[in-house]
Amino acid sequence: MKFTKAFIPTLKEVPNDAITPSHILMLRAGLVRPIGAGIYSFLPLGYKVVRKVSDIIREEMDAIGGQEFHLPALNPREIWEETGRVEAFGDILFQVKNRDYVLAPTHEEIMTFHARRVVTSYKELPQIWYQIQTKFRNEARPRSGVIRGRQFLMKDAYSFDSSKENLNKSYDLHDGAYRKIFDRCGLKYFIVGASSGAMGGSGSEEFMVKSDAGEDTVAYCEACGYAANVEVAKSKVQPLQREGESKEVYEISTPDVKSIDELCAFLQIDETKCAKSRVYIADGLPVLVLMAGNDEVNETKLEKVLGGVRPAHPDELKAITGADAGSIGPVGFEGRIIADLRLKDLNNMFSGANKNDYHIGGIDFMRDVTGAEFFDLRTVQSGEECPRCGKPLEVFTAIELGHIFKLGTKYSEAMGALFQDEKGEEHPIIMGSYGIGVERVIACYIEQHNDEKGIVWSTKLAPYKVHLLALNMKSELISGTANGIYEELRKAGVEVLFDDRSEVSAGVKFNDADLLGMPVQVIIGEKKLKTGQVEFKIRATQERRDIPLEEVVKECVNFEF
Ligand code: ATP
Ligand code: MG
Repeated sequence: MKFTKAFIPTLKEVPNDAITPSHILMLRAGLVRPIGAGIYSFLPLGYKVVRKVSDIIREEMDAIGGQEFHLPALNPREIWEETGRVEAFGDILFQVKNRDYVLAPTHEEIMTFHARRVVTSYKELPQIWYQIQTKFRNEARPRSGVIRGRQFLMKDAYSFDSSKENLNKSYDLHDGAYRKIFDRCGLKYFIVGASSGAMGGSGSEEFMVKSDAGEDTVAYCEACGYAANVEVAKSKVQPLQREGESKEVYEISTPDVKSIDELCAFLQIDETKCAKSRVYIADGLPVLVLMAGNDEVNETKLEKVLGGVRPAHPDELKAITGADAGSIGPVGFEGRIIADLRLKDLNNMFSGANKNDYHIGGIDFMRDVTGAEFFDLRTVQSGEECPRCGKPLEVFTAIELGHIFKLGTKYSEAMGALFQDEKGEEHPIIMGSYGIGVERVIACYIEQHNDEKGIVWSTKLAPYKVHLLALNMKSELISGTANGIYEELRKAGVEVLFDDRSEVSAGVKFNDADLLGMPVQVIIGEKKLKTGQVEFKIRATQERRDIPLEEVVKECVNFEF
């Protein structure tokens, strides 16, 4: 492609609302343009990358026996009503006004629709069906460019099996295919969730990448690969020790002392001697939740114990305990007490007195807080030891690239997709579903492969492998040579973008080439050309070397990054 003929609207400035590197660079390099919140057009350069990622996905899906479909995005609503998912999706589901249609946010229902009454015997199973299709979700906060859009491209696959064991096989095939896909795309990823059934896993894995644009917070161990959402993550946090002798309970006047840090400073004690109290309402009843020091309570873990909970409002707090937040404690508290495991059996502890501006010392959990129940309620913090290998954990935000999931019979049961086993008995088909966000893969690749100048494409994803720069098109020697190389590269099957602009300076061409990020730059300038040489520059390393003109094509063909 010649630059003078191409539509590549690059931007010099960083667009106003873009913060995430991939969002900025996709706009600046002319890969995408928004037409509304969370709705992006892929321009020619960007769409070439979409096709490359899609091709990698297709190859790996076909390699595990996947068969490609193309399902409609516009779906009769009644199909979605069969599984109750019009209601389950709620506002996320786009509904077509005055018509009984929805815009599909995923395609479990439609694939199940095609399987039912058509796939009827165990002999026709397994099946793996997939497609690469646009999805619509009315996301509350579309953000970070194509990372969270309202319309996006998803590879979604579905497996149909006759037994749990066979589902495990289909699931493992996808697990393997996903690793190959993300490896080939050059992504550094990690996997959250237990692996497949054979190992007694939960039947769901999320393939994630670390990113400031992420909305999930995860704890990750680089050493052994342990990864878990902080909502459920554990660590080998140091247990706290009971002291030899328990003191008597005593009251201390602590004017204006509210936080654990203020209490520690006031009493000259370590935070691990304090029990932090918060009151929640569960099932209409107050529950006191106790954590050691500044440990943060994890509401997901708490909900596992109590069901739905909410923090008590300030006026409720006063009515329940007689004190305001900052002066609450377990001694004399009437109601259920739930404490973090770290506090178990501790003595000589400090906590609020349920009386404003007073705290209590000398608390012995076994003596003074009888009836307290102990659970793991902590939120894991960076630097704590990995529960599996003991190396330090890192806590960060991450984005989900893909998800594999053992659905079981939820959809086949709701929609009556049944098969007959060897004995002629009918059962619902056992399903799995497997998604990858195609645009997210691209954005995450850019998040991981960029520098201050622009994008750094690999040869596998680059829109063009070679960026050919003719520094002065007004020179006949240069333009003639450049045109010759351009034709030869194309004949050799190398995708090449030829900057044949005559009105822009060499500096502008260099900057654009680094911004667009093709893996190889072939630079043709007067001085080198007179000695029969051109410059061969590797974008990733910025390494430049002179090579003889006659070797350019061979070097370009052989280059891999
Ligand atoms: P998230 O937690 O990020 O909302 P999800 O759990 O809703 O993701 P799935 O329903 O499992 O996602 O969809 C499969 C894949 O589609 C995701 O792994 C992700 O890569 C992609 N995806 C989901 N929502 C969006 C979106 N709004 N924009 C772009 N890609 C998306
Ligand atoms: Mg979602």
